[in-house]
Amino acid sequence: LILMSSLYRHNKAFNAFKNNLELEKSNEYLGKANDELYSAHNDLIKIYKLKDDLVAMLSHDLRSPFTAIKGYADILYNLEKDKNKKKYINHIRASTIHQLEYVDGMLDMLGEDGMNFQLNYEKISASELISRSVKGLDVLAKNKNITIMVFLNNDNELSIDIPKIHQVINNLIANAIKYTNKGGKITINAEVREHDFEIHFIDSGIGIDEKNTEAIFEKQEKEAHNGTDGEKSSGLGLWIAKTFVKAHKGTIGVKPNENKGSDFWFIIPVGRKKA
Ligand code: ADP
Repeated sequence: LILMSSLYRHNKAFNAFKNNLELEKSNEYLGKANDELYSAHNDLIKIYKLKDDLVAMLSHDLRSPFTAIKGYADILYNLEKDKNKKKYINHIRASTIHQLEYVDGMLDMLGEDGMNFQLNYEKISASELISRSVKGLDVLAKNKNITIMVFLNNDNELSIDIPKIHQVINNLIANAIKYTNKGGKITINAEVREHDFEIHFIDSGIGIDEKNTEAIFEKQEKEAHNGTDGEKSSGLGLWIAKTFVKAHKGTIGVKPNENKGSDFWFIIPVGRKKA
């Protein structure tokens, strides 16, 4: 009995020793895995930072040539007497201003934590906001023989971050042009109400697959398609639009157009007080 109990104790001690060894091994393994995870995490942070730095550098470096183009276009505009040529020079100016705003928007988005920007509220009339974009993109519509019609219920002022909402409208009109066949039609229906602003961009284009109506607004999870005339697609335009609309505490979406094409829309609060 004594022998058996001593054997039992030895066995228990041996098992505890074995368990300890296994625990030590697992601990060592976990420690290693932890180190690897930590270093992978650090590498990812470095890669993200590098990407942000590259985008920031690129956006920043694009500012100078765009500013120069705008400067020379201003000079040419003032020197030119021919009305027709003046109109085209004005298009160059408007597009360059649009590019500058775009670049500034990218720089704004690249805050310390990647997506940190502040809204700068200013007043603008709804008609001015829409016509700026329509004029800037008119040449693209003309190239495809597409007509753009604008309907606005009243011309009240909006209090918004002008370059950002301008960018949203530009992206939606540019897409409507891009995904509509030659000779098509785009209707912009806008309504300024007491507390919000609603705008629809209805095109007679290729339309949207109903199962994609959410995914197309995301940065990943979507396929980007070239336009009906082979125009390039980056797959970022709607994501930028959604980011800026959400920053205004608004909503953005798309539904199929009744006949053909799509109806992209957004609603944002406008911060107007009752007159
Ligand atoms: P991009 O800037 O490259 O056009 P977007 O994020 O703006 O990318 O659009 C993403 C995708 O959504 C496009 O590749 C296209 O498939 C689809 N899309 C966007 N606008 C329209 C539209 N008006 N009609 C049909 N498809 C559209």
